[in-house]
Amino acid sequence: MSSAPELKATLTLPQTAFPMKANLPHNEPLRLARWAELRLYEELRKAGAGRPAFLLHDGPPYANGPIHLGHALNKGLKDFIVKSKTMAGFYAPYVPGYDCHGLPIEIKVDEQLGRKKLEMPAPEVLEACRAYAQKYIDLQTAQFERIGCFGRWREPYKTMARDYEARTLEAFYGFLEKGFVYRGLKPVYWCIHDRTALAEAEVEYAPHTSPSVYVRYRLTSDPAAIDPALAGKQVSTIIWTTTPWTLPASLAVAFHPDFEYVALEANPTPCTPLSPCAETSGASKSESAVYIVAAELAEAVAAACELDTTTELARFKGSQLDRVTFQHPFLDRSVLGVLADYVTADQGTGAVHTAPAHGADDFYTGQRYSLDPTCRVDAVGGLHVDPAAWNLAAPPAFAGKKVWAANPIIVAMLEERGALLAVSDLEHSYPHCWRCHKPVIYRATEQWFIGMETPIKRADSSETTFRNLAIEEIDKVIWDPAWGKERITNMIATRPDWCISRQRIWGVPIAVFLCEKCNRPIIDAALNRKIVELLEREGIEAWHTTEIEALLPDNAVCKNCGEIRPPGQGFRKEKDILDVWFDSGVSWFAVAESDSELQASYSAFQKNEGTEVLYLEGGDQHRGWFHSSLLTSVALRGRAPYSRVATAGWTLDEQGRAFSKSLGNGVDPVDIANRLGGEIVRLWVASVDFREDMAASENLLQRCAEIYRKLRNTFKILLGNLHGFDPARDQVIESELLPLDRYMLARTRELTEKIIGPDGKTGWYGAFEFHRVYHAINEFVIVDLSAFYIDVLKDRMYTFAPTSQARRSAQTALWRITEALVRLVAPILSFTADEVWEYLPAVEGREASVHLAQFPRPESIFSEDPAPLLEEWKEIFFIRDDALRHLERIRGAKIIGKGLEADLQIYTKGELLLLLRCHAAGLKEIFNVSEVKIYEITPDRRLKLPDLPHGTRFNTLSFSDNLSFVVLPASGHKCARCWNFMPEVSNYGIWQNVCTRCQEALTEMKIDQPTEAAP
Ligand SMILES: [Zn+2]
Ligand SMILES: [Zn+2]
Ligand SMILES: [Zn+2]
Repeated sequence: MSSAPELKATLTLPQTAFPMKANLPHNEPLRLARWAELRLYEELRKAGAGRPAFLLHDGPPYANGPIHLGHALNKGLKDFIVKSKTMAGFYAPYVPGYDCHGLPIEIKVDEQLGRKKLEMPAPEVLEACRAYAQKYIDLQTAQFERIGCFGRWREPYKTMARDYEARTLEAFYGFLEKGFVYRGLKPVYWCIHDRTALAEAEVEYAPHTSPSVYVRYRLTSDPAAIDPALAGKQVSTIIWTTTPWTLPASLAVAFHPDFEYVALEANPTPCTPLSPCAETSGASKSESAVYIVAAELAEAVAAACELDTTTELARFKGSQLDRVTFQHPFLDRSVLGVLADYVTADQGTGAVHTAPAHGADDFYTGQRYSLDPTCRVDAVGGLHVDPAAWNLAAPPAFAGKKVWAANPIIVAMLEERGALLAVSDLEHSYPHCWRCHKPVIYRATEQWFIGMETPIKRADSSETTFRNLAIEEIDKVIWDPAWGKERITNMIATRPDWCISRQRIWGVPIAVFLCEKCNRPIIDAALNRKIVELLEREGIEAWHTTEIEALLPDNAVCKNCGEIRPPGQGFRKEKDILDVWFDSGVSWFAVAESDSELQASYSAFQKNEGTEVLYLEGGDQHRGWFHSSLLTSVALRGRAPYSRVATAGWTLDEQGRAFSKSLGNGVDPVDIANRLGGEIVRLWVASVDFREDMAASENLLQRCAEIYRKLRNTFKILLGNLHGFDPARDQVIESELLPLDRYMLARTRELTEKIIGPDGKTGWYGAFEFHRVYHAINEFVIVDLSAFYIDVLKDRMYTFAPTSQARRSAQTALWRITEALVRLVAPILSFTADEVWEYLPAVEGREASVHLAQFPRPESIFSEDPAPLLEEWKEIFFIRDDALRHLERIRGAKIIGKGLEADLQIYTKGELLLLLRCHAAGLKEIFNVSEVKIYEITPDRRLKLPDLPHGTRFNTLSFSDNLSFVVLPASGHKCARCWNFMPEVSNYGIWQNVCTRCQEALTEMKIDQPTEAAP
């Protein structure tokens, strides 16, 4: 028998080495090192072999900077999915990727190399780009790992890897050989700063101020042919444009064939500084003039051009203006009247200046009327002239100027010639380059395209077009949120042909040979395989360094023009590279279909064998990666590359503003990890509904840290209460657990089924509803556990003999709850759950990490259907809430102090009475009073208050028909050990006032009656 301690020291208080202070910034890196040592990711893959697969295919972030909060959110969500799917029993590999080629890196490298780049051989420039990308791949990898994201970080996929580059080219050849690819002159978005074509997805709209000009085009054909009323009149039309620099390329004026047009006679107006009377061309506002404009816009045009007192001379359909001719306002050129359906009556004049080299609509109209689309604006935006063709004596003032500089010069020329009817500045939404944020232009250039209308066969061999099949495939995919489906459908339905060429060097070459005679590519599958193999061995550098002769067979034949050329002659290498969206868009082909860790599962998906393939990225990827991936997979495999697509909203500050340096409102996930912990970043990710826009700020992250402390503290108390509990030895069988403990297990099972579904694979984790998991677990921990269960258990846990059945019953429940909870939070609180895991009571065969464990089976937490029990306890909580309110009021009146200083009498009848009698033994504990007595209210007599000792104060409360309470000061005597008021207290050695229950506990604990005070 041991010597006597202090009476207080005989309480069994929680005991655990689990530290209260997390010190996450210091401890998380240590745990990462442990995971690395365990080779946890590899172990997880091994453990998952043979299980059904779930593939989350990573959308590669661009490797050109440190990670920001959007990246952390993206990878955090993916990590929740991979971990929860793994714990739900799936094989869920995660191979992260990096997007490496493209303009942003090439531009950075340009800046670093400066003029030196011009003299450097291509492989050296590419080497510098590779090194640049690798630097950020290493940085981002370290940052993603730091916030606890599992994945194959040792071997991510990189679009600049040799095998990936080879696969990208192979995919391009797939398009080429199947007849999707053509080369053509076409107006495309063009950035004159970056000197490259831009895809639709690379253009963003922003406000821009342009000169808005109304320009007179004089009719040179017979006006009477349009309408007899115009015979002998000086007739013009008025065009409106915000790009005066395109006027030198003006070849036509388009009218809507079905619109009503009017011919307005404007009375002579006095001379103004803008339109002086003396004109070199003789055309001025001072003479009477007739203007043809759309009837709907006539009033607005007259106002804008200050044409007062106008008379309508004639009214006719736009079709009357087909093939009339006009005089170009400043060039010796006849401009054709053409008809086009896209002419609108929203703004302008209804007469649209048409420059086939500088607009998509213009280009197609030009094709219909055989107009020349030659572009005289060069790659850097310089205007060129063709003095011979334009019949000019001297170059005009705008020659050689950049487009923006040419604008005022051209406006001045218009004014000088009396062709300018009005000019003002217009701020409007204008396309800008997404890389350099400068305004872009439309420019006709030779580009490579994938034709959206290419014929293609469905799986059942019926014929359709590429565009239609892509739209049909969208329909088979689950879009989350659902609006994504309409969004991407509209984008695919209306997009132009895909311009896949870029005039840069850092990318996969469009590795084809062009015939010098007919300008067409050689399409030869055997040759293509040879070049793919070359790239596999030597990377894209090889395209720049290998001589044509080494690749082209002797006497190669152009199948198009039939020309047989001697070796090395007559063909040239294409220099363009592929659009980076093509690179990342073939990741399903280069990675999912090719990587040994993924290919079997991906193949099962492609064969419709039930494997899900998920893409999850930001909502802007409907026009980016989701889009390009869909197109490449539909073209090459006839199906979508995914079965499910989820999109995340934007991260904003608390006021809903975007993060910006100037506002200083940014939240840097790396900084948060270093100051508060990667776990806090993770908790924030879980706290937001990622489908909406999400708020983040220092304040909100601090709030997450606060919630983290509460969660951690509860885990610590749970672990502390499990001290001395050996599940194998001490577990109480479920049917013998005390009712409260059974209730808590039923509640835990209910929560578990919400989180992972009754099958363990669905629920909120299955639906990627992480914010619901977060809120439900918070509520469970803070309300059910901390404020209720752990609190009311104190008496049983601290004062009962450690080995007593009642205490073991509580420990059994606490143990099952902790075992369930630690698994349920593991996908989110990955560091902390793994730490808790190490402090759980030892169990044979326990996995080395929580991440190697599976989610709990709901029936292993509590084997019965929890619903009836929970229903029953709802009533008990209803009574408890009522009782606690009354106790609180009496405490407020200072009649009693702690709950244990009170006895509670409950007066009730009917079913409530039965229920309470059934739970009588446990009521004292859940009401946290010294005694609970239950009395029946009988119909034949009113409630009779009990006889009380003389002078005792008592309180009767809330007498209703069914339920009333009487709160009395506790009868009996306060036990010095457990503080309960007990009928009997006596001395235990020199310890005075120890209740019988405590004395029994002390005896059971083999603590002698002390004969003298502890030293
Ligand atoms: Zn640009
Ligand atoms: Zn040829
Ligand atoms: Zn006691």
